[in-house]
Amino acid sequence: MKYLDEFSDPDLARRLVDEIHAETTQPWAMMEVCGGQTHSIIRHGIDQLLPDGVEMIHGPGCPVCVTPLEIIDKALAIAEQPGVIFCSFGDMLRVPGSGRDLFAIKGAGGDVRVVYSPLDALRLARENPDREVVFFGIGFETTAPANAMTVYQARRQGIANFSLLVSHVLVPPAIAAIMESPTCRVQAFLAAGHVCSVMGTSQYPPLAERYGVPIVVTGFEPLDILEGIRRTVIQLEAGRHELENAYARVVPPEGNLPAQEMLRDVFEVTDRTWRGIGMIPASGWRLSDRYADFDAETRFAVGDIHTDESKLCRSGEVLQGLIKPHECAAFGKECTPRNPLGATMVSSEGACAAYYTYRRLEHVELSQPSGTGLVESR
Ligand code: SF4
Repeated sequence: MKYLDEFSDPDLARRLVDEIHAETTQPWAMMEVCGGQTHSIIRHGIDQLLPDGVEMIHGPGCPVCVTPLEIIDKALAIAEQPGVIFCSFGDMLRVPGSGRDLFAIKGAGGDVRVVYSPLDALRLARENPDREVVFFGIGFETTAPANAMTVYQARRQGIANFSLLVSHVLVPPAIAAIMESPTCRVQAFLAAGHVCSVMGTSQYPPLAERYGVPIVVTGFEPLDILEGIRRTVIQLEAGRHELENAYARVVPPEGNLPAQEMLRDVFEVTDRTWRGIGMIPASGWRLSDRYADFDAETRFAVGDIHTDESKLCRSGEVLQGLIKPHECAAFGKECTPRNPLGATMVSSEGACAAYYTYRRLEHVELSQPSGTGLVESR
């Protein structure tokens, strides 16, 4: 297949669904790690085509959703400082901190700008030497290389008024944390193909071995996901637990070596708190000592942050696969994309947003008129 629409071919999809049914003899629960895969599954109704008892558990792989409240509050505190140009991808602007968001800071006169690349933020720093330009660097192994490259370029070009607010997280430690939870129901993983395209696949066989779970590297189109599920079911039924790469057209086993080198130069591994989940050891990156001058957390006095999470929001349970979004009492009522209580409702990769966009008529009596949400307008 060469073209994107071929990865949605209904005849091939039906054949894969039939094979999954033919292979399945008992219930299985598998987790798709990435929020992009969650949206594809819900959007195309893939979970509803599976045999009874085969459950897709939605994982914590939405970068916006897992960015900790403390970092969001630090972003808000930095963005409202005079002289600062605070740059972020658009998804972060609606994410609730302790009572407000970046839109509120912008509405109150803060210079908050949506950019499409960290290099846009670096350009702004070059063009505004009398201002401090901060880029909000969040995300998994996919977005981290571009942010690392931007810091590398800032130092190389002598741009001193640029800094990065870093909240990068790593997938393999999250898989380990999920498997070690006493409430874990996950029996297999669809690994995030784009993460593996950067980091390769070598981190996964030890996890498959240690926890006795199949891990299948999977893409994002409907046929990619069905093929990932098919391979996973075959392994589960056979009692195997191995790494398989079902996304070989994008993922070489060794990953992207220049990107990995850039990551190693600019970042170092650190403990990270995941919003709704808690601290996971060695699960993120911070700027290495060589680039400490570009760390926005040390450049601005934002150490004394008091966080206040919504009492209603159950996004931590959603992110760990313990409940589905519609099982949260606030879903579609107190919590909507226009008035989100948690990041999972507002992020384009959030599980609550996926259910609100594609499934809400099945699960809630709407308390708000339709057609008003940010997610709907995309
Ligand atoms: S529906 Fe809203 S309140 Fe409930 S878990 Fe999702 S984001 Fe949180």
